[in-house]
Amino acid sequence: MSLKNKHLQEVTLNLAHLRKVDFKSGQSFHSKGFLSFQDAPRLALEIQHKDPHFDILQKGLDWEVRTWIDEQADKTHEQRLSVHIKLSYPLECQRCLSLYEEAIDFSSQFLFKDTEDEVDNFPLENDHEDAILNSHQFDLIELFEDEVLLSLPLIPKHAIELCHPEVILVTGLGSPDDGFAQGADDSTSAKNPFLSLKKLKFDA
Ligand SMILES: [Zn+2]
Repeated sequence: MSLKNKHLQEVTLNLAHLRKVDFKSGQSFHSKGFLSFQDAPRLALEIQHKDPHFDILQKGLDWEVRTWIDEQADKTHEQRLSVHIKLSYPLECQRCLSLYEEAIDFSSQFLFKDTEDEVDNFPLENDHEDAILNSHQFDLIELFEDEVLLSLPLIPKHAIELCHPEVILVTGLGSPDDGFAQGADDSTSAKNPFLSLKKLKFDA
């Protein structure tokens, strides 16, 4: 895969620009910046459910994007986007149930497609890149949010040396009829996808 455009244009994308990037212009560029969680509403919402005291104004994600065009053997062109994201994200440790910040650092690559059908038909088994719909007004913040949510660990856990589980939660020695735990769970079950795991432990 060759990087066709050697002279990438450096651009600054402010908050308004990030919501409507014109990838269809064909201009390849490089850009990076910081986005506070406050300005990524879906992340802010998730975070505030977990930790109402988390500073969503000061904390956020460092992002970097790059686009380029690859020429295929048949002389057609493919336009790609790479995204690199670094952040600390508050999660609930599933061993001790206390909050901690998970350091997350990942890169994703995307191939632009012109129609929804092409995106839908893109092979799922391609773990090297995903297809996305090209647009004159592409919402990069939405893409950042999707990628961050997908990158979260399914079963978040402290580093073992930082984890101090209560005996009852780890060994499952709590009484299965313990009504207190169930009542607490029911009130928040819609918000936290991990609560079903917690229940399993109590019910075991
Ligand atoms: Zn822990």
